[in-house]
Amino acid sequence: RIAVVLFTADLRVHDHPPLRAAHDSADAVVPLFVRDPAVDRAGFAAPNRLAFLADCLADLDRSLRERGGRLVMRSGDTVAEVCRIARQTGADEVHVSAGPTAFARARELRLRRALEADGRRLYAHDGVGSVVPPGEVAPQGSGHYAVFTPYFRRWADRPARTPLAAPRALRVPPEPRSDPLPSRAGVPGVSAGLAAGGETEARRRLRSWLSRSLDAYEERHDVLDDRAGHGTSRLSPYLHFGALSPVEAVHRARARGGAGAEAFVRQLCWRDFHQQVLAARPDAARADYRPGRGVWRSGREAERDLRAWRAGRTGYPLVDAGMRQLAHEGWMHNRARLVTASFLTKTLLLDWRDGARHFLDLLADGDVANNQLNWQWVAGTGTDTRPNRVLNPVRQAQRYDPDGAYARRWLPELAGLAAPAVHEPWRLTGLDRAAYDYPDPLVPLADGLARFRAAHDAA
Ligand code: FAD
Repeated sequence: RIAVVLFTADLRVHDHPPLRAAHDSADAVVPLFVRDPAVDRAGFAAPNRLAFLADCLADLDRSLRERGGRLVMRSGDTVAEVCRIARQTGADEVHVSAGPTAFARARELRLRRALEADGRRLYAHDGVGSVVPPGEVAPQGSGHYAVFTPYFRRWADRPARTPLAAPRALRVPPEPRSDPLPSRAGVPGVSAGLAAGGETEARRRLRSWLSRSLDAYEERHDVLDDRAGHGTSRLSPYLHFGALSPVEAVHRARARGGAGAEAFVRQLCWRDFHQQVLAARPDAARADYRPGRGVWRSGREAERDLRAWRAGRTGYPLVDAGMRQLAHEGWMHNRARLVTASFLTKTLLLDWRDGARHFLDLLADGDVANNQLNWQWVAGTGTDTRPNRVLNPVRQAQRYDPDGAYARRWLPELAGLAAPAVHEPWRLTGLDRAAYDYPDPLVPLADGLARFRAAHDAA
């Protein structure tokens, strides 16, 4: 018996239920990745993610070779390529991870039909990209939880699956032809500070972060400047590409225990929460989850404000530092994501979809469920139970960047300013102000707040 394992957003060999099942049930396994232009058309093909993907594929190929296999790479329509490989190798079964997006589910359905028409079977495995598969924890009478806390309680109470070991050795059939693997060097326009991708790197980071920073996580996860150590895990891109199993991340954190582990596990639950919302409401990738709450400006001034926000030139140092970190690293600290998104949607009153698009253009972890639904959460159109809260970027900076290190790091033009002045450079006067080539605020915060309230009272 021969089995094909179709890798998608699960680029690892450890805790990989489809690979494990294929290895256990078949005599030989064909590990396959298909570069499908339909994924690009769906907005995936951003340089940072393509570069990170190339790293992940190279690392997966190395791990498979160490076990006697190798990754077969193809380009084209996934369904057509899988069927072709199955025919060429005489495989009678195909294993894949079930995905939460409408795109993944439609692909799975088409693949199942095409394989069955050919007399072959598709096995779609749950619980690969999430700890709890979407829909498995649901309130009575509804397909999904719309509020995080009750979801988290049920989620945390479920017995956890034990992570699966990677297969020690793989037997491959006479190999089908493979396209060359992509390389990071071949991707133009990648952020200079983008992290290296791949499962090996993910596992190294998980180990060292758990031993060094987990205990400090509860207290320090909102601190913006993480150069002093004890920052957040920065595991999100690895989780996005499946180079790290969320089941394993939860398992290892829980094994260490303590308040830091609980806080970290709770944060990982947010991924599952958004996935189950998106699985139940696939339209929320574009449409407002709660319609009727969004009030957005448009026109020339709105366009100008959007450009300034994207470029990190709004005149609010915390907002601008976040946007520059995003451009430089393809990653942004969660607190900065909250502040930059709140500023766009609630102070500038610009549509969350424009902000989400820009994030997806740059984030290595850019993810339909997490990105679109976090944006909606901040914009007040999503699942936040306090949709009218507006974050004040100056107070947030005073609290989470008290000495201004994060602002100075990402805004070299303010490098000479200490806190508290670095949080409010517009308060400088005369020659002091003229010494800094940094814009004045796009809009005073009080005016932004008044505009937000007026728009929402009218709505
Ligand atoms: P840690 O603090 O170490 O947390 C551990 C893991 O928990 C993360 O890697 C991530 O997988 C998960 N997690 C943490 N917070 C959240 C959250 N709010 N929602 C979902 N999962 C979470 N995360 C993405 O993975 N992809 C996105 O496209 C994305 N877009 C976002 C857009 C906005 C506007 C906001 C406010 C948040 C977004 N997030 C997104 C969530 C969060 O900001 C990142 O997951 C986090 O900053 C990643 O850094 P970390 O790995 O160091 O997180």
